[in-house]
Amino acid sequence: MSEAYLEIVVLKCPKCGALMAEPSWFLDLEQEITCSSCKICFQAKGTEVDRKMLRILVENDHIKDVVVTG
Ligand SMILES: [Zn+2]
Repeated sequence: MSEAYLEIVVLKCPKCGALMAEPSWFLDLEQEITCSSCKICFQAKGTEVDRKMLRILVENDHIKDVVVTG
């Protein structure tokens, strides 16, 4: 069993409040994001709700499980 890590952030749309998950590096790009619900574009930075590191367990080149750490 091997493992890989991905830090994710949960963002909240400033208009409709819909939640979205993105890789944390996405916020560092200061990119605009399109809400999956109401389709407005907004600056991802400043809309962060929470972030967590995910540990992805890989066995024989297949993802077996994803564990939230921290
Ligand atoms: Zn929205």
